[in-house]
Amino acid sequence: MNYEAVIGLEVHVQLKTQSKLFCGCATEFGAEPNTRVCPVCLGYPGVLPVMNAEAVRKTILSGLMIGCKITQFSKWDRKNYFYPDMPKNYQVSQYDLPLCLGGAVQISGKKLGVTRIHLEEDVAKSFHFDTTSGVDFNRAGTPLMEIVSEPEMRSPEDAFAYLTALKEILITGGVSDCDMEKGQLRCDCNVSVRPVGQEKFGEKVEIKNMNSISGVKRALEYEIPRQIAALGRGEKIFQETRRWDDEAGKTSVMRTKEYAHDYRYFPEPDLMPVTVSDAMLAEIQKLLPELPEARRQRFIYQYGLPEYDAGVLVANAALAKFFEKAAGKNPKAVANWMMSVSDITTTPIQPTQIGELVTAIDAGQISGKQGKDVFAAMLTTGKSPAIIIQEKGLAQVSDTGALEAFCEQAIAGNPKSVADFKAGNKAAVNALVGQVMKLSKGKANPQLVGEILAKKLHSA
Ligand code: ADP
Ligand code: MG
Ligand code: ZN
Repeated sequence: MNYEAVIGLEVHVQLKTQSKLFCGCATEFGAEPNTRVCPVCLGYPGVLPVMNAEAVRKTILSGLMIGCKITQFSKWDRKNYFYPDMPKNYQVSQYDLPLCLGGAVQISGKKLGVTRIHLEEDVAKSFHFDTTSGVDFNRAGTPLMEIVSEPEMRSPEDAFAYLTALKEILITGGVSDCDMEKGQLRCDCNVSVRPVGQEKFGEKVEIKNMNSISGVKRALEYEIPRQIAALGRGEKIFQETRRWDDEAGKTSVMRTKEYAHDYRYFPEPDLMPVTVSDAMLAEIQKLLPELPEARRQRFIYQYGLPEYDAGVLVANAALAKFFEKAAGKNPKAVANWMMSVSDITTTPIQPTQIGELVTAIDAGQISGKQGKDVFAAMLTTGKSPAIIIQEKGLAQVSDTGALEAFCEQAIAGNPKSVADFKAGNKAAVNALVGQVMKLSKGKANPQLVGEILAKKLHSA
């Protein structure tokens, strides 16, 4: 029997705000454990939360970017559970009235639906040492957006493309840096399989807490055949939570449905519902950036870039911005040079300098090969191409007087090539160009040399 996979993702994204969701503590990554905490995020009794409006705005902006309907009346709920990462024994989240509903993420060829986006507080981070465990509450209370997709992905590639596109969108909107190594974007993968043609979904398995996009793809590449094989053996798939072991390349059972949580959600009595006025919505609408897909298309038609180049440049917002400043008269050449820069944010090169380099090559002042040396020097020194060309003495000889002399010398010294040329072998001119290059120690402008030689050979 042929099976197809059904995949839905729950993506958690830490918002880029100065302070936490319900207190004034800084949302700083990498600080000394338990130094960015206060009675509110430590869950002391008797304290009251105060909502961070910027987190709500960034969630709404995220919703607008992927075409969600913004719920103008939403509320907070308590999700109750008992675990050391949450000292209040409940997490403030949004249950039945989230901030955003619907929407979709465009990947190549199709749109993948989003069910909802809600806002909640991140929990503390646990560390397990040899004989003890530790809890760092610096992360507790960080604004965390949960983006739940519809079960519309059908392959590991779909999931990979969805996450990549979503991450690009969120970074572009300045909503989050989405640095997965810092845990700013985490993902739970829900996956089931069903016989092709069957409408009803199969029983799903949830793979928890994935922290890399390629990990998600590999986990699905393992899990889908595992489920298909189990069904093939006549086994049943039961709803369960699994973990992904990145090193072993396998998923394994974490808990079965028996241990599913009952979170006993109920409305948070200490926080007012969130009302979003039309005026506030209009303000946020003004912050809508050009989205990656639209920018990619624009780079293709405005600058005449190949699809590949546009994709590479747009995938990195800093690179795209740099490119637009540098593009100049020959955007394709500028793109080529830029795609070889390893980290645009730390390069000493100024955007206009790449244009200067391209102009120097296009004008024949230096050869393309010399351009590589100049570019390497630009990367290490930050000096302008003009200065590097001068310092290295690279400028090609374009002084026709000097070139004519070299050409005459070459013609006089190579009667055989001249005879070949006159006998109709046009390629023989290359040998003469080579001679001139040698005579000029590589500095002659080869294009000009070609022209001068052609003229001289024809008139001779
Ligand atoms: P739960 O109540 O178990 O959390 P939800 O209905 O909230 O399940 O869905 C959680 C995620 O799982 C969503 O992204 C959804 O698209 C996805 N999902 C739901 N049912 C399935 C299924 N049968 N196979 C794969 N993914 C599914
Ligand atoms: Mg769920
Ligand atoms: Zn705090």
